[in-house]
Amino acid sequence: MAAGTARCPGLAVRLTMQQESAYITCPYCWETIEILVDPSEPAQQYVEDCSVCCHPIELSVSVAPGGDIAVEAHSDDD
Ligand SMILES: [Zn+2]
Repeated sequence: MAAGTARCPGLAVRLTMQQESAYITCPYCWETIEILVDPSEPAQQYVEDCSVCCHPIELSVSVAPGGDIAVEAHSDDD
């Protein structure tokens, strides 16, 4: 009889699509809004509509190796 079936620790800590919250200031209405960032991508650029004023905000997201997320928000017209 096998003494205990060892489970692969890599499978036990299975990562799902995890998203981190980040807060930015909308360049149009200056409200602080929450966005969701996928920390598995170290550098991302995309456009997300402000949840307050609905203007499209250009977001530059960078994720440091330690997991720190930095987000820059720009207005679409500059
Ligand atoms: Zn806004």
